Amino acid sequence: MNGGSVVGQAIIAVDPSRCLGCRQCLRFCPRNALVVRNDLAQLADASWCDGCGRCLGHCCADALSLTPCP
Ligand code: SF4
Ligand code: SF4
Repeated sequence: MNGGSVVGQAIIAVDPSRCLGCRQCLRFCPRNALVVRNDLAQLADASWCDGCGRCLGHCCADALSLTPCP
């Protein structure tokens, strides 16, 4: 068994093949966890995302998904 994992937590994942770098998702993250670098959204710090999912419905490119925390 691996120790240290957080049960029931998820974080956002960005599909780089879909992301357009439009920054729309940034506006809806209450924790400012997302940034856009080189026209690609990514987590500024994975620990800042609490998996609330608010950004999900605002991506016109369907590039966002929730994935279980590692
Ligand atoms: S809203 Fe979607 S396409 Fe736009 S930057 Fe965010 S993840 Fe990328
Ligand atoms: S799931 Fe919530 S905390 Fe995580 S990036 Fe999206 S809006 Fe921000």
